[in-house]
Amino acid sequence: MMDSVMEIRENQPAALTTAVALAPDLSVGGATVVIMAGPCAVESYEQTRLVAQEVARLGGRVLRGGAYKPRTSPHSFRGLGREGLEILRAVATEFDLLIVTEALGVEELPLVTEYSDIIQIGSRNMQHFPLLWAAGEQTKPVLLKRGFMSTIDEWLKAAEHIASRGNEQIILCERGIRTFETATRNTLDVNAIALVKQTTPFPVIADPSHGTGRADLVTAAARAAVAAGADGLLVEFHPDPPRALSDAEQTLPLTAWPGFRQQVAAIAQAMGREII
Ligand code: PEP
Ligand code: MN
Repeated sequence: MMDSVMEIRENQPAALTTAVALAPDLSVGGATVVIMAGPCAVESYEQTRLVAQEVARLGGRVLRGGAYKPRTSPHSFRGLGREGLEILRAVATEFDLLIVTEALGVEELPLVTEYSDIIQIGSRNMQHFPLLWAAGEQTKPVLLKRGFMSTIDEWLKAAEHIASRGNEQIILCERGIRTFETATRNTLDVNAIALVKQTTPFPVIADPSHGTGRADLVTAAARAAVAAGADGLLVEFHPDPPRALSDAEQTLPLTAWPGFRQQVAAIAQAMGREII
């Protein structure tokens, strides 16, 4: 067992990654695989608090949750907006968590920056250049999701748009791309994770929830991402997934959180890393 672990480590290409600090004692892109977990959308104080409590209970440090939701249909739940940000901040403070949440447009960016610790730019906005430039003027880290129909080159150029305004604290997020496959919502591009780790200074995390669209595949996809070198994961959990107001079918119940962490930790260990 030890031999094979050593072999894996020795065969790793030298990492170029420049870690992005989230807190004095936490960064993405270093030895630790950072798991960012939470609901797809902030729906209520109680729902968000239950998730945050469980995330913190096992040592998680980053809570995800959308207050502004980019929905394909305008008739779907589009998030609580400012109230959602206030809920996130209240529960994150209670459980000493950091927050990653999406800025849907330039208009929301100041508020999202004020309330969050990591500014998320969503897949649909990867080439929303005014938003990239505005995020590039902030002093907080930016999580840049890959557009679901974007090439790796377009994704990296989008990151450069952010960096061109001075903010180089960029974390890339592979969240699955649209392919001919219909059995899954998207195809998690594990190749992309390994490639950007080898060719860019940016840490890269994976989103196995949107990357698969299926709760029964999320843990396997997370394991694969960490094996490919991902520096972290962004994953959706809900106290009662069938009742989730968005992405119910890809959301794991809180009861799956311990097993999810255990499995990801086992792969991380084989890669010479730990999880948080
Ligand atoms: C999300 O993570 O909340 C989200 C909307 O994902 P994406 O932008 O990847 O679709
Ligand atoms: Mn979602």
